[in-house]
Amino acid sequence: MKLSCEIKNKPEDLIERFIRYTKIDTQSDEHTNKSPSTPGQHDLAKLLYKELMEMGASDVFYDQEHCYVYATIPATNDSPKNTPVIGFISHMDTSDAVSGKDVNARIVENYDGSDIKLSEDGKYILSPKDFPVLTEKTGEDLIVTDGSTLLGADDKAGIAEIMTMAETFLKNPELKHGEIKIAFTPDEEIGEGTDHFDLERFGAQFAYTVDGGDLGTLEYENFNAAEVELIINGRSVHPGDAKNRMLNATLIAYEFQSMLPAFENPMYTEGREGFFHLTMMKGTCEKAVVYYIVRDHDMEKFKVKKEMVRNIVEFLNKKYGEGTVELTMEDSYYNMIEKIRPHMHLVDNAKKVMEELGITPIDVPIRGGTDGAMLSYKGLPCPNLCTGGYNYHGRYEFAVVSEMRKTVDIILGICGIYGEFEI
Ligand SMILES: [Zn+2]
Repeated sequence: MKLSCEIKNKPEDLIERFIRYTKIDTQSDEHTNKSPSTPGQHDLAKLLYKELMEMGASDVFYDQEHCYVYATIPATNDSPKNTPVIGFISHMDTSDAVSGKDVNARIVENYDGSDIKLSEDGKYILSPKDFPVLTEKTGEDLIVTDGSTLLGADDKAGIAEIMTMAETFLKNPELKHGEIKIAFTPDEEIGEGTDHFDLERFGAQFAYTVDGGDLGTLEYENFNAAEVELIINGRSVHPGDAKNRMLNATLIAYEFQSMLPAFENPMYTEGREGFFHLTMMKGTCEKAVVYYIVRDHDMEKFKVKKEMVRNIVEFLNKKYGEGTVELTMEDSYYNMIEKIRPHMHLVDNAKKVMEELGITPIDVPIRGGTDGAMLSYKGLPCPNLCTGGYNYHGRYEFAVVSEMRKTVDIILGICGIYGEFEI
């Protein structure tokens, strides 16, 4: 396997490319009811389209309506004909947690392990006291912001890494690989990244999202997820003569909560432990509305949790009268492991490349969902790779230059393996 630093015809510098992308405001917004949710995402899509055209990628397509960009890197002639078509996907939008406008990225060279003053006034300090992971990054070059915005390494680091892979292969046809597909998507952060994803146009048999964090991250398990809405109908009566007549809807909501297992709560769970999470509760004596999310990696345990919700509702309706508690429960997404398991080569090959590069694979179940989970259930098995970015969705977000470069090597290495891999 060849490292990118040993390659003859160099692509554009990864970090310059990344910083150019961070300057475009692509923050998504879940309240616009539009697709894409914000116009800024089109600006990045147009730029990526232009750059892919210029570097000579094939089938470059910009979906101007829904803001997706697709491209192909054709297989090299020496690659066997029946190798699988592998895809790489990153999202163009950034989180709405902190502004993504006028991002002022800068590089802290040879980080010395001390506090990093992000803003001039010292208001925002990136400190190893708050973020212990920094202690492992001494000697590294870090990309940080000025504290007024997020960085957008989530997921522009992934985009820059995929673009660098594409340019590397296009400039160095002696590097053997099979057919490679690329896609950049909008609105991942608001859960709509795959709504208009054209799987047929994309044309990959397997893919990786490049949307993880720490170098070595390899994610192929996520939660099974459901949303619960309870509408509780009480009976409001003057409290002076309410005996045996009043039904307090809010207290029934409390009663529902009291019957859930106390420790199966996000406050007390980690790893593969699932939970019931009360996300919203609003009520009077007459009426209460309560929302929960239910999560579990294990499908059986997930079913048991949902059954428990139904049983409690049934109990309360028996106790207080039919129709007191109205339940709506819908599945949101499922654990991709079910769809990855028949194609474990996706995990094994990524691990193999990492190990060859001296990177320890970090194999942790995601306590959330990913676009890859959605795509896996639409027929495109799709684990998630690292990017080298940290502290996502906030002004303390940073990226490690060497880890971003190594992520490019991981992607190149995976393409190399699938250039030989016959199915
Ligand atoms: Zn992301």
